[in-house]
Amino acid sequence: MSFDIVKGMATTLKNMGRKPTTVSFPEEERDLAPRFRGRHVLHRYDNDMERCVGCYLCAGACPADAIYIEAQENTEEKRVSPGERYAKVFDVNMLRCIFCGYCQAACPTGAITLEHEYKLASFRPEDMIYHKEQLLEAKGQSTVGSNEVWADPAPQEAAQPLPQEGRIFDGSQASAAAVGLGNYHTERHVLFTNEEQDEDRRKLE
Ligand code: SF4
Ligand code: SF4
Repeated sequence: MSFDIVKGMATTLKNMGRKPTTVSFPEEERDLAPRFRGRHVLHRYDNDMERCVGCYLCAGACPADAIYIEAQENTEEKRVSPGERYAKVFDVNMLRCIFCGYCQAACPTGAITLEHEYKLASFRPEDMIYHKEQLLEAKGQSTVGSNEVWADPAPQEAAQPLPQEGRIFDGSQASAAAVGLGNYHTERHVLFTNEEQDEDRRKLE
């Protein structure tokens, strides 16, 4: 028996007693890290107004040209967002998206975040273009999404004319700095949630 075979058998024997690191998807799913970036969600304020003010900053920041927006003016009769404009059309092409999160970082109102939805499959490529109707939170169910873990809290003095429980910038008076984005230090405790499942993942120092 050559030495290579002995080595191979030793590796097999060593791993025979170990728990598998795979899970039986779809019956069983892995716990995802809070900062996992999956499908986008468009957020509302607590008063159900849409956070997106149709500024195109996310589309401009997108390196994959995956976001298509058509903005429309708010009027007194039809006010959709607190800003001058809102997004009448907001499409994200998931076939182009590389889930980098630049759109989330660029957004001055916390309107777009990447969330834990990763089951993105379709038989037809056109179904992979997600429209505003699919991305927008339902009325009465506003959240700040993963900005809870990505964004620093807005400073106390930041203008927040629309009352809400979330910590993210509200309203048209504040600046992008008030959002508290930009400090992207990595903290281990938000990257790993399940020590057992994360055992086989690359450990970050
Ligand atoms: S995650 Fe990155 S690639 Fe995807 S839409 Fe946002 S900016 Fe574009
Ligand atoms: S999601 Fe944010 S960055 Fe993109 S258009 Fe709306 S407000 Fe501007």
